[in-house]
Amino acid sequence: MKRTKLYIGGEWVQPVDAGTSAVENPATEEIIGEVAAATSADVEPAVQAARGAFPAWSGLAPAERASRLERLWHILDRRREEIARTVTLELGTPLKTATAIQAGLPLTVLRSYVDLVGAYAFSEEIGHSLVLKEPVGVVAAITPWNYPLHQMIAKVAPALLAGCTVVLKPAELTPLVAYMLADAVHEAELPAGVFNMVCGPGAVIGTALAGHPGVDMVSFTGSTEVGKQISVLAASTVKKVALELGGKSANVILDDADLVTAVKVGVGNAFLNAGQTCTAWTRMLVPHSRYEEAVELAAAAAGKYAVGDPMCAGTRLGPVSSARQRASVLAHIDTGLSQGARLVAGGGDLPSRGHYVPATVLADVKPDDVVAQEEIFGPVLAVIPFSDDEEAVTIANNSRYGLSGAVWSGDESRALAVAGRLQSGSVDINGAAFNPVAPFGGYKQSGTGRELGRYGLDEFLQTKAIQR
Ligand code: NAD
Repeated sequence: MKRTKLYIGGEWVQPVDAGTSAVENPATEEIIGEVAAATSADVEPAVQAARGAFPAWSGLAPAERASRLERLWHILDRRREEIARTVTLELGTPLKTATAIQAGLPLTVLRSYVDLVGAYAFSEEIGHSLVLKEPVGVVAAITPWNYPLHQMIAKVAPALLAGCTVVLKPAELTPLVAYMLADAVHEAELPAGVFNMVCGPGAVIGTALAGHPGVDMVSFTGSTEVGKQISVLAASTVKKVALELGGKSANVILDDADLVTAVKVGVGNAFLNAGQTCTAWTRMLVPHSRYEEAVELAAAAAGKYAVGDPMCAGTRLGPVSSARQRASVLAHIDTGLSQGARLVAGGGDLPSRGHYVPATVLADVKPDDVVAQEEIFGPVLAVIPFSDDEEAVTIANNSRYGLSGAVWSGDESRALAVAGRLQSGSVDINGAAFNPVAPFGGYKQSGTGRELGRYGLDEFLQTKAIQR
């Protein structure tokens, strides 16, 4: 697939300098596409288009904006299978998971915003004040590659519903699904300039957007390091900033838990999308009294995650996203072993082509080890022992991150007490399902702001009080 244009002001336009970049299939290392690589000169027209479209778009009734989003939902829903296949090709997510999550989740989230409009209070009375929720303005949405369409929709849908206009800068590794979104926006006939897309290197396009005086808000999902740089750039014009950053979440299995289920679900969570999930429970915390049993169960569960072609129906573990990512994950495994971790699953032969990493379980990891502190973003699980609930909470909170986590116990009130003490933006008890309308976001260096549901819509609104 060759797509060398940018989507600006409702049309496909040639970048100022006609650069392109290649798109690789990480399972085969074949080049499967070529897309535009814009320069900072392309940012100005995109921001101007978004500014120009803002007055009319923000002036529409929210229900009218929601009906445009509903049109977009129908178009994307029609292309659901193609979306899943595209993400499998450019990212390596096994097709079954890609169908359910890479295509299914963004559709659920988009639908949730269409449905929210009637229930959301865009104004309220407080005493003699009329309090209005008004759109922030032009939003730069900068997104990563691991759940590419979901991360784009989780920003674009609430931003547009709020009345903001958007310049999207998608991740370099997964641009093909971003082009599918822009095509769908075009087909949905959103007014020109309401949604714009500029593909290119983060250090160039992302930086230009974060520092641009015509951008009112940056909504960023990605690494903590880049999030910090964006905050600094955005400060120059006091932009609103929402950051969804990295994680190193703890799966706390208490001594009265159903160990077999807790370990099986925990391993599945850690290896979802080849471990490239910001919320992955990458630290499994187990009481000393049940430690060896848990390690054996984790190793056996990991053995069922043999790597394979992500297009094959039975595959649960595809490649990681790139050669660079693979090298980084393997280096982390080596560091873990050099710090004394015990390899209980992993190693072995791998396909000669493709950026594969074996499902790896490291036992006897100490809470301060590198593999317990750094986000590895690959299929690597660290198993850490603890003595009692108090120590489990201390170890779980011994992280600069605080995105997600889990607690398992036969006693829900005990699990709730531990969950309440975890310094993280979300916690799942006994494998409770992901809630796509619950607030999603981080404590500590996992970020600021919330996505999804009405909390996600709040982010794109500012508040005005009129006294009368
Ligand atoms: P990344 O930070 O390298 O890139 C994210 C986006 O920022 C990309 O579009 C990239 O092009 C752009 N970018 C890169 N350098 C930039 C710069 N200097 N200025 C502005 N923009 C720049 O992250 P990634 O490798 O694409 O994604 C993986 C990271 O994202 C992991 O740390 C993961 O935990 C995090 N993540 C967080 C969440 C969440 O919701 N909290 C969700 C998914 C991923």
